[in-house]
Amino acid sequence: MKVPEKVMAHCPFCNAHTEHVVTLNRKGEVRHNSEGTRKFREIKKGYGGMARTPKKPVFKTAKRVTLILKCKVCSKKHQKVYDRTKKTTEIVKVD
Ligand SMILES: [Zn+2]
Repeated sequence: MKVPEKVMAHCPFCNAHTEHVVTLNRKGEVRHNSEGTRKFREIKKGYGGMARTPKKPVFKTAKRVTLILKCKVCSKKHQKVYDRTKKTTEIVKVD
């Protein structure tokens, strides 16, 4: 799926229709020493089964695309769920 680089959209901070720069939402880095991960590691030590119920298999084939829109006036960011797609999403330059 192709997404334009610049779009006109409503900015909730300016409360107006302004131009936005579009970037794709990517998954952040895994923090191996965050509080939750440390607790999970501590629980899993020694004897006993899983600390949490294992994840169920997902049969969905399409993923939701989330865009990060940055306002050109106030330079604040907000997210927008764009669409569901099976193909990889790319940002395309539009003159
Ligand atoms: Zn704004």
